Amino acid sequence: MRLGEAEVLCSLRGRLKRERQQATSLVVVGDHVEVSVQSDGTGVIQEVAPRRTVLERPGFRDRTRLAAANLDLLVVVQSTRLPAFNRHLVERFLAIADRGGMSALLVVNKIDLEDPAVVGSWLAPLRALDLPIVLTCAKDGRGIERLREALTRRLAAMVGPSGVGKSRLINALDPGFKARIGEISRVHEKGKHTTTASRLYPLEGGGYLADTPGIRELALFEGDPESLAIVFPEVVEAAARCRFRRCSHSHEPSCAVKAAVESGAIDRDRYEHYLRLAAGG
Ligand code: GDP
Ligand code: ZN
Repeated sequence: MRLGEAEVLCSLRGRLKRERQQATSLVVVGDHVEVSVQSDGTGVIQEVAPRRTVLERPGFRDRTRLAAANLDLLVVVQSTRLPAFNRHLVERFLAIADRGGMSALLVVNKIDLEDPAVVGSWLAPLRALDLPIVLTCAKDGRGIERLREALTRRLAAMVGPSGVGKSRLINALDPGFKARIGEISRVHEKGKHTTTASRLYPLEGGGYLADTPGIRELALFEGDPESLAIVFPEVVEAAARCRFRRCSHSHEPSCAVKAAVESGAIDRDRYEHYLRLAAGG
C-alpha cells in the first residue's frame, strides 16, 4: 500500500474481509482505500472506494476475477516474433479494456526482428480503430520515449503473453525501477503478509505502471476454450475425437481425451491442470 510517499503494510479490517470474500477479490492494485494507521506503523484497510474502471479476467469465478482497479490505460503488448504477433489476442484485450471502462494502447515490441512492411500489414486491420499504436524495441530503445509519453500521468498496466518483452520495456522506461522495487520487497518481507508481489512503478512525469501476477495472468483466459487451445493443443487435438461435441472431458463416455490420458499420450498433470482451468479457476 502506498500512502503518500511511504509504503505501509496493511491488513484488512475483519468485517470487510468477510463481507467481500464471496463477492470479488478483496483489494486489488489500483484500489483507493481508506486506511487507519496504527501505532506500530502498519495500517488497516477500512473501506474500498467504488471502482472507476475494472480489469477483469474473463471466465474466472468471481473471487479471482478482478486483477486491477481504476486503471486509465490498458497497454496491450505484443512482439513481432518470439512469440509471434497475434491480432486476435489484441482484439480480445481491447474488448476487456472496453468492458472495464479503460482506454487501450497497443505496443508492438521487438521491431528489430521483423521487416517494417510486414509489421505494417499486420496492423492495417487495426488502423480503423481508435487505437494508438507504439512500435518499440526494448533492446535498442526505439519507441521508448513515445511509450513514456503515452503513460505519463496515468495509471496503466501492461498485458500480453509471456515473452513479448514487458519486463524489458519496464526497465527501458526507467532502469532505476529494479533497484527501487528491490527495496520495497524487502520492506514487505519483514511483515507477516508476503502474499502478493504487487508492484506500482512510479513514472518519472507522474503516474504509475501496475504490474502484478494477476495482471500478467490475464494473457491466459481461463475457462475460455480458445485460450485453452493455445495452452493445451494436445487436449484440443484429442478432443476432436470425443463422442459428444460439447464433451467436458471429465466424465463423459467415449471421451478421447480421457482415453489419451489413460494411454499416456497426454500427460496426466497437464490434463488435470486443463480440467481445473476449464472449470474456471
Ligand atoms: P515478458 O515475459 O513479457 O516480461 O518478457 P521479457 O521482458 O522477459 O522478455 C522476453 C525476452 O525477449 C527476453 O529475452 C528479452 O531480452 C527479449 N526482448 C525483449 N524486448 C526485446 C526487443 O525489443 N528485441 C529483442 N530482440 N528481444 C527483446
Ligand atoms: Zn472428451
